[in-house]
Amino acid sequence: MTTTPDFPQPGILFRDLTGLMADGPALRQVTDALLSRMPADIDAVVGVEARGFLFAAAAAHSRGIGVYPIRKAGKLPGPLLSETYDLEYGTATIQLQPDSLAPGSRVYVLDDLLATGGTLAAAVRLLERAGYVVVGLGVAIELTGLGGREAVAGYPVHALIELP
Ligand code: 5GP
Repeated sequence: MTTTPDFPQPGILFRDLTGLMADGPALRQVTDALLSRMPADIDAVVGVEARGFLFAAAAAHSRGIGVYPIRKAGKLPGPLLSETYDLEYGTATIQLQPDSLAPGSRVYVLDDLLATGGTLAAAVRLLERAGYVVVGLGVAIELTGLGGREAVAGYPVHALIELP
């Protein structure tokens, strides 16, 4: 992992997992660690665009279950549900297609990194509005001190690495 100051905005210290993901053994190690924390009784793994897709697809493949994408606005055809939220830098809108997974499905959400928790909290709101049961949230990296866990209080959060 590399750390880039002032990306994508001045004042943001960006933790970049590109190198880790390009390294086969490292990717397997991280994916296996995320999988070991993922409950057994889930129906699909939710991946949050874009880096969450990579871990979610690998984890879903390993479990033999589906992967269900939450996408940035404008990428999916409707009907859609949308949530807008504050990000560490700026605002964002994410969307899902509620008809693609059976109502009542138990889902586990994967993303690369938890910062303020705005993204995962919006993902949880979307999934619950669509009628799914969020059984937990997993990230490779948690930036502690930004309130991420508090933003998703009440949901189990599994983070492999905690960074200040
Ligand atoms: P949050 O919504 O928790 O503030 O930010 C988490 C989301 O923004 C994740 O989807 C993550 O991909 C992205 N993000 C925010 N900060 C960073 C960072 O330093 N490194 C990486 N890789 N992603 C970040």
